[in-house]
Amino acid sequence: MDVSSTTEAGLREIDRLLEEGGVRRGRRRRLAGPSKQESSQSIRTQGSSQNPERTNLGDKLVVLRVPGWSQLGRGGARTGNLSRPIARTAAGNSAAMAWLVHGFSTRAGGRTRIYRPEASAGGDLNLGFTDPESPKIVAANRRLFLRAVWGGRELPALITLKQIHSPLVRRIGRHEAAALQRGLSQPAISKGDGLMTDWPGVLLGIQTADCLPVLVADRRRRAVAIFHAGWRGTVARIVEGGVGRMRLEFGSQPEDLIAVIGPGIGSCCYAVGDEVRQEFESQFDYASTLFREVYDSDPVKEKYPLLFMTARAPGHSDLGPRLHLDLAEANRRQLLAAGLPTKAIYRMDECTACQPERFFSHRGEHGFTGRMMSVIGIRF
Ligand SMILES: [Zn+2]
Repeated sequence: MDVSSTTEAGLREIDRLLEEGGVRRGRRRRLAGPSKQESSQSIRTQGSSQNPERTNLGDKLVVLRVPGWSQLGRGGARTGNLSRPIARTAAGNSAAMAWLVHGFSTRAGGRTRIYRPEASAGGDLNLGFTDPESPKIVAANRRLFLRAVWGGRELPALITLKQIHSPLVRRIGRHEAAALQRGLSQPAISKGDGLMTDWPGVLLGIQTADCLPVLVADRRRRAVAIFHAGWRGTVARIVEGGVGRMRLEFGSQPEDLIAVIGPGIGSCCYAVGDEVRQEFESQFDYASTLFREVYDSDPVKEKYPLLFMTARAPGHSDLGPRLHLDLAEANRRQLLAAGLPTKAIYRMDECTACQPERFFSHRGEHGFTGRMMSVIGIRF
């Protein structure tokens, strides 16, 4: 359920009706999301606000990365420095040549115009075959993104999935890479929500616009995995099961694994129904720690309290609490349950729904939006 658009529309309609009736009120406050300026500055790192990077994103293509990961395999640096702020690498500044390649796309720097036709800035980097986007534009955007992530002239094969909110994970070897590779201009046909490989030269991609991308790398065995974790996939334990599958397929040991939970809808914005809590409670003994109740103020009632006068006692309004889910924490718990050390897990804590300038958000934009892509792979 998303109330912000209906509330906006409702407020406009009430304003109009009241104005017709001769009543005029002050300009209403902004309803959803931080201001443009705030959103470009709200960069948080887990558990600390030390040295936050402040980058004016402008209309450049920006790839988010965990800095220490780009050094893996160089000069014996076996551990990623997980406490540093997120790196923002503009296109053209290729990451250090190391075996592990990864990145999270953001919104700016592409050729897509349909989702923000009014924007005077450049186009969006829509990387999914959304309707009514032109497949040619998606292919061009994908090329820009892959070049920014991979560097060099020759682009790797990109493997994506037709994502279905399942716990289904596919291992990609040489034959699968050849069979599942659809080029940049065709949507995937094979279904699933997780990919893993120890085969170099391919990039595994997951597309999101609120759901979480979760990336895992085995520093010792040089294997990688990527998962699509919405609430359904999370309840189905895609990440926990996916790490188990890495142990099975590659002989991965949890202490050799590092993981990053990428941009997705934060608990600040992720209101869910009680049925979602019930699903989590049926699966996880820590479910109660993943939800919190938020008493939402209703801007219409706040602004026009007299229209809603009732005989009810204070505290008995029908504005009950809304449940907010911390999906990133749910997936962090799964990584811990799978045996990863706490310090090996990096949470980006970037909410897609409250930063419309930086990310696509399915909920924030009421379903009409593009897709970001997260990728991980191994260099030749
Ligand atoms: Zn948010």
